[in-house]
Amino acid sequence: MIVTIDGPAGAGKSSVTRLLARRLEFEFLDTGAMYRAVTWCALDQGIDLDDQTALRSLAEEIDIQFEDDQVLVNGTNVTTNIRTPEVTRNVVAIADAPAVREHLVQIQRRIAKQGNFVCEGRDQGTVAFPDAFCKIYLTASAHSRAQRRAEQMEATGEFVDFDQIVREQETRDSQDLARPVGRLMKAEDAVEVNTDQQSLDQVVDRLEKIVKARMEELSNR
Ligand code: C5P
Repeated sequence: MIVTIDGPAGAGKSSVTRLLARRLEFEFLDTGAMYRAVTWCALDQGIDLDDQTALRSLAEEIDIQFEDDQVLVNGTNVTTNIRTPEVTRNVVAIADAPAVREHLVQIQRRIAKQGNFVCEGRDQGTVAFPDAFCKIYLTASAHSRAQRRAEQMEATGEFVDFDQIVREQETRDSQDLARPVGRLMKAEDAVEVNTDQQSLDQVVDRLEKIVKARMEELSNR
């Protein structure tokens, strides 16, 4: 069984996905971490991010493993390395590369065959798992998404410039929406959930109800 959660950066997908997966006793898959992992590896190996052939080979050779909350690339733990501003700035080149996307989607499908999964990203309900039994599209206003990002940065002791966060968010949104393959889009059969003014628990409660109602609907067929 697969639940997909797509939506823009800062809507709260990561925390929601983890908690929802725990409640449902499903595994979770953070597909953004995969695009980040390939980006980290390309930068580490000095690969030209415009070289589509080199990026395709890298995607085919890279070994990405998830162990609990840790991300391993070719055996190296890169959990913190993939969250640096440098990776965040450059990930667009990787996410825009159709050959990389095609390969990562194949890996996502292979992973999801191993159990019941909540899969989080931008294209999970549209491209990776169009037949998923339950699809969620998580949204929030631009202001509350930026606010959430600012709080995360504050919590880790980072310097917060709110205007800069808003500008970077606008850039990421337009990159996510403009991508020719796998762009951010609500699947036709996805349920849209707005997380504005909702606590994490409230959002997870709501999603749990949606998923369970969908399970019941299917079992009554
Ligand atoms: O979700 P996160 O911000 O970690 O994702 C990193 C980058 O990977 C984002 O810029 C996003 O556009 C891209 N991405 C994607 N498709 C996915 C997941 C993430 O293009 N399924």
